[in-house]
This record gives sequence, structure tokens and C-alpha cells, in this order.
Amino acid sequence: MKRFLFTLLLVSFLWIGDAQNVVVVIIDGARYTETFGDPERRFVKFMDSLAHEGTIIDSFYNRHKTYTSQAIPALWTGSWAGTRDTVYNGKSTQYTVRPSVFEYYRKQKQANDEKCIYVLKYVSSLWLQSFYPGYGPQYWPYTVSEGSNDIEVEQRAKDLASLYHPQFLWVYLADVDHAGHSGDWSAYTSAIKRADSLVYDLWTYLQNDDFYKDNTYLFVTNDHGRHDDQHGGFRNHGDDCQGCQHIMFLALGPDIYKDYVVDKEYEMQDFAVTVSYALGVNPEYADGRLIDKIFRTSAVVSHKDNDDLIVMVDGGNIFLRLGKSGKFRVEVYNISGKMVFTDTIPGGIGEEILMATSLESGVYLLRYLCNGEVGSRKIVVLP
Ligand SMILES: [Zn+2]
Ligand SMILES: [Zn+2]
Repeated sequence: MKRFLFTLLLVSFLWIGDAQNVVVVIIDGARYTETFGDPERRFVKFMDSLAHEGTIIDSFYNRHKTYTSQAIPALWTGSWAGTRDTVYNGKSTQYTVRPSVFEYYRKQKQANDEKCIYVLKYVSSLWLQSFYPGYGPQYWPYTVSEGSNDIEVEQRAKDLASLYHPQFLWVYLADVDHAGHSGDWSAYTSAIKRADSLVYDLWTYLQNDDFYKDNTYLFVTNDHGRHDDQHGGFRNHGDDCQGCQHIMFLALGPDIYKDYVVDKEYEMQDFAVTVSYALGVNPEYADGRLIDKIFRTSAVVSHKDNDDLIVMVDGGNIFLRLGKSGKFRVEVYNISGKMVFTDTIPGGIGEEILMATSLESGVYLLRYLCNGEVGSRKIVVLP
């Protein structure tokens, strides 16, 4: 009991609404020096304004393979386990070795495919998600591959959002990379400006839809950058130079810090892990780490009766006092984004509950859902 008291840590009152939807935008091949790495943000004025409503990471990197065919699977899976060649529906393509965040979401949330939509321009042979045992094609996203440019793709994303209200929407914008490979600087920077305005337009559209308003996360990143000027310049990419490796990361959402820049370094494999956390699913075969620094979970001890949930930690045990009535679902994630404990408690105000979790010492994020609302707490289990 003694230890129980001094390991008490916590807890800002954090009431974040109904943070259930996740929208991802991948801008293919924008170099960091043309996005948030440019002090003037000349080509990303719209995302610069969004950054004041959210968090960017200044040191986000693809440290492994800076080309699309391996980086996109890494963004999907949170792993660099890579792809395998196959023939699917008569077409040569690749599939990911590890399950994707789409599959984690659809399986674990028992979501039908229209709740999980992947939108990109028309490509003749789509890359595939995994055939991993227990996951696989029955959990792949509803994939809409139509149109020929970013404007059409974003329009399609909006149409699908209003038609199906997917909880998980992943939008892939390919034009920046294509323009970069042309070697035409103004075509390249114009494509970035267009993608920038489309991200803003999509976010604005979603905020005007009651289904998404105030309960949606937005994550924007790149699969790779482009060579810096010492390694060939913006036309191409694919090696380990700073220009190729350094990419952007922007997050917005109800419990994401506002107007905040994370200076800790994170890597591409962390992306799917963090998206999984936002979706409340367990990326069990991913290798990345949870980007916990973007979430507002800072610890302030509070015992106010109107707190919705008071959490105390005693060794591996978690003690909860409920500040509201309803069914509490509690999920504890380790720093790798793996859900290590979950329980659902039918609770009443003031009820006190001890959950034996046998957690090892370390930092965890505890996420809870009650009456459709979501909150986070950071907890520390001492040795
Ligand atoms: Zn690419
Ligand atoms: Zn390079």
C-alpha cells in the first residue's frame, strides 16, 4: 500500500470528445526542405496553418529504403519486413509480409470494408496488403483506385467520406513524386502546393461533417524525400542522404497537442503503430514505437470528484476510480504500441476497481472509452 501511494502518477483532466476516426494522407516524395523544413513554408502555407492546430515532428525519418515500393508497405505495416512477389487476379504485384494497419483495424474492430477505405489514383496493378495467418484479404481495405491526379483523388476521398463515413480513411497523393522525377522545379513545387491545399481542403470538409467534426485524427507524412543538393538534387531519390531520409509528420486531433513541435526523433515504422493507437487497435506484428509525444497526456495529480477517471498504479496493478457512470473500456498500450491489457468495467460514479495486470516496469499509455468518449493517461509502472 505504501508503494501504491508514492507511485501515484497523474493526471490531467482530459476530456477529448469522441476521438474515433482516423484520416491519413501520404504525400509521395516531398523533400523536407520544401515542406516544414523550409522556414518560410513557401509551398505548404495551408499545412503550416494546420500545424498551429496540431503537432509536427521535426526529426521524422525514413532510415531504411527511400523508395516508394518499400516505404509504402512500411507505412502500412509499421515494419521493414518488406514485400514478396506474387501474381494476384492475373497480375504481377507484391504483398506485404506483415499485416497492415488496415487489417489490424478491420479484424480487431470487426469493421466491414466500407469503414476502412484506401483511396489512390488509378494504377493497373495494386500493391497488396498481407496474407499473414489470422489476417489477410478478408481484412484488406476497401480500395478505390480511380482518377489520374491528386485533385481527383481528394475529390473521391470526400465523396467516399460523405457516402460511407469510414472510421479509417487513407489517402495516397502521388503527384509530387511524379513531378519531382520530371526534373522541373516549378512543376515539383506546384505539386507540393496543390497537395498542401488538398490536405487543407479535406480537413476542412471533414470538420464540416458532423460525423467527423472534433472527433477525427489527421496524420500526414511522406514515404521518402528526395536527394539533397550534395547527392544529385530533387529530381531523384533512393539512397541514404539526408534529403531522401528526412520527411514530414503532421498530426491533428482532439488529444493531439496544438501548435507544438516534437524534437525527439522518430522513424517511419512508428507511423502505423501510432495510427493503430489512434484507432484503438493492437499492431501486434509491427516493429515501430508509439509516438507518444504528440498526445496530450501530461501528468498532473488530481483527485477532483468530477474527474472521469482517476488512475493509480501499484507495481503491475492498476487502480481506477470512476468519475462517471457507464461502461468503461480500459486499454493499456506499451511504448511499442502493443495493447498489453484490456478490460471492460460496468461502472458507477465513485466505484473503485483494482485490475491486476502484471505489467512490467515502464511507461504506458492507458486509453479509455466510456459512452463513446475517449481519453488517454500516461502511466508509469515503477520497478
Ligand atoms: Zn515515393
Ligand atoms: Zn538521396
